[in-house]
This record gives sequence, C-alpha cells and structure tokens, in this order.
Amino acid sequence: MQATPDSAKAAETPSNGLPREHVEACGVCGARERATFQPMADVVECMACGALYVSPRPTPAAIGEFYSRLGHYDHWDREPGRAAMWQRRTRRIAKLVPPGGLLLDVGTGQGDFGAAAKELFRFEGTEVSSEGARLARERHGLTVHEGDLLGLDLPRGRYDAITMWHVLEHVAEPRATVARCFDLLKPGGVLAVAVPNTDTKFILSRTELGAAYDVAVKRPPRRGIWMPRLLLESSTEEIHLTHFTLGTLTWLLRASGLSLCERGVDDFSADASLRHRVEHHAHALFHRVTGFTSASCIFAAGRKPA
Ligand SMILES: [Zn+2]
Repeated sequence: MQATPDSAKAAETPSNGLPREHVEACGVCGARERATFQPMADVVECMACGALYVSPRPTPAAIGEFYSRLGHYDHWDREPGRAAMWQRRTRRIAKLVPPGGLLLDVGTGQGDFGAAAKELFRFEGTEVSSEGARLARERHGLTVHEGDLLGLDLPRGRYDAITMWHVLEHVAEPRATVARCFDLLKPGGVLAVAVPNTDTKFILSRTELGAAYDVAVKRPPRRGIWMPRLLLESSTEEIHLTHFTLGTLTWLLRASGLSLCERGVDDFSADASLRHRVEHHAHALFHRVTGFTSASCIFAAGRKPA
C-alpha cells in the first residue's frame, strides 16, 4: 500500500471511524489557494487551475482496503456490453499506437480491458486491489503489477502506450501519477486518459434546464451539483478524489511534457442499446462542432516527444 503523500497529513477521524487526511495543495497544479465548493461532500475548488478535489479525504490505506473487498467488481460481470466497450477502446488506442507494442494499463481492475487489448498489444497492468489483480490473472492470464503506480519499481522508458480508464480521478496525486507515466513511456509513446466530465458550467445550465422541466411537470425542482461524501460504506460506489474537465485534464497532460494528440468524448458505456450508441455519437459530434463537452465522460491522449 502506498504511503500517505507529502501533500497530505493525518486529519480527524469522523463519526463512522474512517481515517481521513487533509490535502494541503491541489494535486493537479500544486497551488494551495482554494475555495469551498461543495461542503457537504468536502469538495474544494483550486483557485489556480479550477480543478475540484476532496479535502479532507479517506487515507490511501482506507481506500485500498475498500477496493480489495471481495465482490467489489461483481456488478461488472452482469453488464453484457462491457466486452464490446473494451474492444472499442482498444481500437481507439490502436489508432494512436502501432499494434504489437507494449501497453501498460494503470488500475486494470479485474482485467476486462486487458482481455481485449492483448489481442492487439503486449499487455501489462497495475492494480491496487488484491482482489482485482487476482481476478485479472486467473481469468485472463494477465501480467499484473500489484500496488500503486507511484510505489511500483517499473523500468523507465519501457512502454509504447499507457492507459488510465477512469483511474486518474481516484488517485491521491494526479500530477505525480502523470509524471510517472511520462517517465515510463518510450520516446514517442502515448498516454491515454479517460475520466468523468465535471464541466461545472454545463452541469449548472443543465440543472437549470432540469429545474425548469421539473416546474413544468409540477415536480420539486432539482438544483446545484450533487456529490456524495466519501464514507466508504456499502452505499459508496466510486471514490473520486479529483473532478476534471477537459480543460484541466489537457492542461495536466501538457504541463507534464506531453504533446496533445487527441481530446474528446470517452466511449464509456457498457450499455450496447441503440439509444446509448446514438447518444454517444451525438455527444462526440457536438464536441467536434462546438468544442464543448456535454458528455458525462471525457478522453485525452498525449504523446511523449520522440
Ligand atoms: Zn490546481
């Protein structure tokens, strides 16, 4: 398990017994100035780069224990469209990196992406969850390095591609994690990152529209952005420590020395229905035409200079 980062220190233990730590600086840009954003969820806004992050937050040890609980990944097995989703994502990477190269998937979970990616690439993964790593090895025969990327002893300049599918929002130190990926890439290698989209302005406008709709149909209006407090109880599904927009995500890749080679919408849905496919392509088209990201998940890739 990774050590508590320097940018954080032990904080109070709240009523549910969860150990938490204060975050002293933004994990995206390093600035200390912040403003309260969503106090119910301990979310603050960086005054320098606009990233939203959780402080205080559960400690890395508490988060690692949560992910390693047996059965954590069971619901994924019930989604029939997941294999097709991973094949689409694999084809997207293959447009950026020649097939046959060595790919490292950070936070590979139970290995569903590896099962698709190993058809085109030589594959390695990392995973903090002992349960996820075990499943990835047993089900798909994957090479999985168990632990946090920042604590693993992997050779520099080894990989043609590194992927992080909805991982960067979970890590304690996003900037240090991207910097580590930069070191691990070969010259000319590509880092591809997908995260949820927290474009505040859009969400606010959408909730205003939603509120107007609610009034029209005589329902109590919904307002503002709802984010859950991270209590790591049975109701907790996701542990998002940083909330990105396409702007903050691409800023981070560029600030880490990568040249941007793609930005857009992440094709994240395991729902293979026609309605979801049409929705995805509508969001992608809207982004290409307007530059604005209405989709709930975003994708960016950067190339290490040759
Ligand atoms: Zn910042």
